[in-house]
Amino acid sequence: MSDIRNIDSDPDYETTIRPQEFDTFCGQNKIVDNLTVFIKAALMRGEALDHVLLHGPPGLGKTTLANIISRELGVGMKVTSGPVLDKPGDLAGLLTNLDKGDVLFIDEIHRLSPIVEEYLYSAMEDYKIDILLDKGPSARSIQIEIMPFTLIGATTRSGLLTSPLRARFGIQCHLEYYDSEILKRIIKRSAGILCIDIDEDAAVEISLRSRGTPRIANALLRRVRDFAMVKGKGFIDLAVTRMSLDALNIDTRGLDIMDNKILSTIINKFSGGPVGLNTIATAVGEDPGTIEEVYEPFLIKEGFIKRTPRGREVTELAYSHMGIEKDIDLQSLF
Ligand code: ADP
Repeated sequence: MSDIRNIDSDPDYETTIRPQEFDTFCGQNKIVDNLTVFIKAALMRGEALDHVLLHGPPGLGKTTLANIISRELGVGMKVTSGPVLDKPGDLAGLLTNLDKGDVLFIDEIHRLSPIVEEYLYSAMEDYKIDILLDKGPSARSIQIEIMPFTLIGATTRSGLLTSPLRARFGIQCHLEYYDSEILKRIIKRSAGILCIDIDEDAAVEISLRSRGTPRIANALLRRVRDFAMVKGKGFIDLAVTRMSLDALNIDTRGLDIMDNKILSTIINKFSGGPVGLNTIATAVGEDPGTIEEVYEPFLIKEGFIKRTPRGREVTELAYSHMGIEKDIDLQSLF
């Protein structure tokens, strides 16, 4: 219950509040402006939009943007994900069912198997796929043409994409964490849709504690609403917000129990670092990939941790945030 970002999102809730057009998609202005131009140009030429790669930490709007792109293009969208597509036949099935200009959205595209990835190359480049018929000596491959389509790939770990795959995306967008002003707008919009009564300063407070992430902001809004109904006066004010966020172990900088555990482990067990990612992961009992893609980017962005060639190190800010005094390194004084 302490880790709000790992709670499975409720699909009905998501569908209700997920923006359906660029006008209601808050922030990421540069990406939205550019995509708007590329979509218009593709529509004017009557061509499929170039393939789009969306990368950035979880919960920042990659799936939402993919939906909006297909709506603005006025085409259908088929959705799948890297780990699900484990055989080339699965991919061929999807591709041959696309109508002209459709979007194929592959979430977690960094987890595609190499063999499926190779099939994707000719599909992306020439709108053709090779299908192998029969096995053994009578095996032969036939080439089939598919409709021009747009692949939208989403990934939290673009560094794991192979360069040939990455090079085939003509449009690449990196989603950034949101500032609190934009998160406040997102919270107020969601509250409006869900008919939740919320004060301005309560919305600000939630926005400041949402780790720059719309999905977390929306999840916190829901939990605070529960507290407001049961323990408050039915509407969300600053007092009930603070009380709820404390109960959820979200601290004043938006860090949760795991964030704080990572910082205190580096400080207390490894004298502030540098320490390797795998060692941190073992010490806190979390998967190294999750630390790298979910926790660390925000801790780095907020200046609590820095990456050095020898590993991760905490900063002065981490010491003061944790209320721990830094041991003076006597050797460095001489
Ligand atoms: P990702 O695919 O990057 O993990 P999603 O697109 O699923 O993230 O977004 C998570 C939730 O956050 C969505 O339900 C959506 O309502 C909300 N959201 C994301 N980005 C925005 C945005 N820019 N404006 C408003 N709401 C957003």
